[in-house]
Amino acid sequence: MHYSTSTTRKLGEKYKEISLLGNVQALLGWDLNVNLPPKASNSRAQQSAYITSLTADRWLNPEFRTLFEKASSETKKLSPLEKAMLRNIGWSGKYYWKVPKELVVEFSETTSEAFMAWHKAKTEDKFSLFSDYLQKNIRLSQRIADHLGYKKNRYDALLDLYEMGLTTDVCSNIFKTLIKELRPFMKQIIKKQSNNETMKQLINENTFYSEKRQRQLSLFILRKLGYDLSAGRLDVSPHPFTQSMTKHDARITTKYLLHDFRSSFTATIHEAGHGLYEQGVADEFEGTALDSGVSLGIHESQSRFWENQIGRSPEFLTFMAPVFQAFFPEHLSQSTTDHIVSLFNNVEPGFIRIEADEVTYNFHIALRFELEEKLINEKLKVKDLPEIWREKMDEYLEVRPKTDSEGVLQDVHWSYGNFGYFPTYTLGNLNAAQFTHAMKKELKIEELVARGEFGTILSWLRDNIHKHGASIWPDELVKKVTGEELNPKYFVEYIKEKYSALI
Ligand code: MG
Repeated sequence: MHYSTSTTRKLGEKYKEISLLGNVQALLGWDLNVNLPPKASNSRAQQSAYITSLTADRWLNPEFRTLFEKASSETKKLSPLEKAMLRNIGWSGKYYWKVPKELVVEFSETTSEAFMAWHKAKTEDKFSLFSDYLQKNIRLSQRIADHLGYKKNRYDALLDLYEMGLTTDVCSNIFKTLIKELRPFMKQIIKKQSNNETMKQLINENTFYSEKRQRQLSLFILRKLGYDLSAGRLDVSPHPFTQSMTKHDARITTKYLLHDFRSSFTATIHEAGHGLYEQGVADEFEGTALDSGVSLGIHESQSRFWENQIGRSPEFLTFMAPVFQAFFPEHLSQSTTDHIVSLFNNVEPGFIRIEADEVTYNFHIALRFELEEKLINEKLKVKDLPEIWREKMDEYLEVRPKTDSEGVLQDVHWSYGNFGYFPTYTLGNLNAAQFTHAMKKELKIEELVARGEFGTILSWLRDNIHKHGASIWPDELVKKVTGEELNPKYFVEYIKEKYSALI
């Protein structure tokens, strides 16, 4: 990275320490989720907390802040990339600079306890074991939001922590459109879709898909998609995730279900999308505030693009059908391409967000968004949550969870105090559809995918999205790539076109 002033150069050098600490923290986190022996969890918590406090010290270092202020006052001399770097440092730094350190520490301690309480509550299906902790997390999040500041809605301050500039108004409009357009469409699909018998024959408690074969299949598709296994790894964890230390070490995980090969396959493709994004960031950004994916909403667009736009398309599944049959002849040799396509595109409203199909998925997010906004603005009491959850599930998905474990307790996010996070999943789905629409003007995606040629598609993503790292913020990136602001109509069109043809 080229620096035009001695101030930005020094700032860049200081930031490098924050970046390195972040890499170490990321590695500790990856190890915690993949390898850590159970008895080591306390020592790992201490190691992690120590890195967190070193990181906070670096952010609060007076010299670092002076350099940042000075650089921010002489932006005329700076290149666009240096300005982008300053903008990112200001955006990340505000959490450390505006929220008192005692509050940050209290929040971190409270959420650790809340996580354990949530885990027990979910296992025992007792919301009451979690509700006091949840109340504390909400209180602390409200205080954090008040320190961060906001123009219109307190919840906006929290949304912005995960997606720069995202607001409640923007989310409300998106969810209104999605619900209005896709709820009636969901009902149509369910009425017409008729492949349950075939599905039961291919996937049931008597079908065994060996873990070894599933892993080989995952490695096959990773190589095909262009994920660099010499700059990453594929491991196993209960919840698949991606953890990138640097672009040369962007690791992913998957999980294997013995009776169902789809789960590991789609999780691998999803996480590969995240990993490919990180591996594709420009080399010159390494160690700077530009050296990763720009936001959660753009990150999720990359994983969803490969998982859904590509991975669940009839062309891709047609290409893959003989491969699946070769890997699992004992179960799939009699199956047709149509069977395989419907196996990956079954629409069924359910209780669990992470198992939801692409048509119903965003309804789960709409529900969480509405409840979070009310909780943060004190318009809803914690004790009323389980019942409201059931009512809203009924309204959007026409299913009513019988237990709280399948309802309000299913997700880990609120135990971590991550209010404002959920909407980025929907942004990911919307961005993916809008990027695909733009890509189709330049590439014949269906033909490429049908031939199993993914290189051209990856190059397009590299040029338009990946290489920019965090130098272009999400709203500008969407405009630059697609020529207009984020518009939910592309997702709605994608869903309607695809499923009208399938059912
Ligand atoms: Mg993801």
